[in-house]
Amino acid sequence: MEKNYVSHLECSITGKKYEANKIHGLSDAGRPLLVRYDLQNLKKEISRDDITNSKVDGLWRYSPLLPVSDPKNRITLGETITPLIKLNRTVNYSSNDKGVVLVKDEGRLPTGSFKARGLCLAVSMAKQFKLKHLAIPTNGNAGAAMAAYATNAGIKSTVFCPGDTPEINVKEIQSLGAETFLVNGLINDCGKIVGEGKEKVGWFDVSTLKEPYRIEGKKTMGLELAEQLNWELPDVIFYPTGGGTGLIGMWKAFLELKELGWINGKLPKMIAVQATGCAPIVKAWENGDEHAPLWENAYTKAAGIRVPIAVGDFLIIRAVRESRGFAISVSDEEIFEARDRVASNDGCFLCPEGAATMTAYERALSSNLISKDDKVVLFNCATGLKYPLPEVSNKIDKNNEIDYKIFINYPSL
Ligand SMILES: *Cc1c(COP(=O)(O)O)cnc(C)c1O
Repeated sequence: MEKNYVSHLECSITGKKYEANKIHGLSDAGRPLLVRYDLQNLKKEISRDDITNSKVDGLWRYSPLLPVSDPKNRITLGETITPLIKLNRTVNYSSNDKGVVLVKDEGRLPTGSFKARGLCLAVSMAKQFKLKHLAIPTNGNAGAAMAAYATNAGIKSTVFCPGDTPEINVKEIQSLGAETFLVNGLINDCGKIVGEGKEKVGWFDVSTLKEPYRIEGKKTMGLELAEQLNWELPDVIFYPTGGGTGLIGMWKAFLELKELGWINGKLPKMIAVQATGCAPIVKAWENGDEHAPLWENAYTKAAGIRVPIAVGDFLIIRAVRESRGFAISVSDEEIFEARDRVASNDGCFLCPEGAATMTAYERALSSNLISKDDKVVLFNCATGLKYPLPEVSNKIDKNNEIDYKIFINYPSL
């Protein structure tokens, strides 16, 4: 056992305390539980430099700020520190701009998405609690990450996907060892099946924010970003928001780092980006509401942000407000246009959800919500390769004589 700094868990809405070393789902109030740490003690015993000097690659270097006490329960599939890539050509920098636009490319993580962070922690805690069977509703990426980590840990997993989840995701999940089912509904319908099966089957519900540890995994995005940027956070973070785990987790990371005194300067503005066909958080934000009711007929091809209702809605809105950020929605048309443009201009292959943040950045800039002097981070949360791509129609017949002139100014001839 290593020293662990978790003090207790806390209901995110009532503040009621819960014992740390027990299996928990939602709080009695039906809302997410947050893990709390004894930061005062941590601060006395561990310094920022201890983290910087850690020999561990990837998210487990932040173990003092994570809940898994026994190192043998820390599952790993080779999570790496994901790079920050400067967009040199898509963004028009002029010589007097102080700003920069960086893409944090989370597509490099196991199973190709940042869901790996949350599920790495959730499944490691499941292992610590000796849980035998995990179940999850998913639009694709969470299911794949859970399947991979559960299989690696020798834990049984069952996954429910909306019937129109892209084939590649569904096949990936099944290949990674989960019992995989297609449901004729959306992710909230899948979530209902998981919830109802808890008593009847005995599986543990790993849905977004319905257990306390996925947030802690996603929190490592914030810790990593801080360390990568020499403990000085960017001015603005654009985050494609579905259930909101990442946005909530990063904001939690920043508050913990601030309390530890590990970051210099101010905290970033958090921008929640959604698709116009499924924008419950944006609507609630614009109405000044605390909660976001179910969005009817949710539609967007950016599956990761097709989440019509979020149990942590108020936590997303709270983080956006506390950070003086905002919520913004962009159309699927803009999303795919931006994806193709960034890929062909900068060689950086965004997933549609990541491309949504690019579009939102451009819109926010032209509406003067942010400035060219801002240091901006866009989250690309999955590899672009998991999504349908434009067809290639150019053909060459090797048996005909090739007119090489056509390549010189192709496609203008
Ligand atoms: C899950 C997911 C999101 C949304 O993340 P949350 O933290 O749940 O809001 C965005 N993009 C992709 C690719 C995802 O898989």
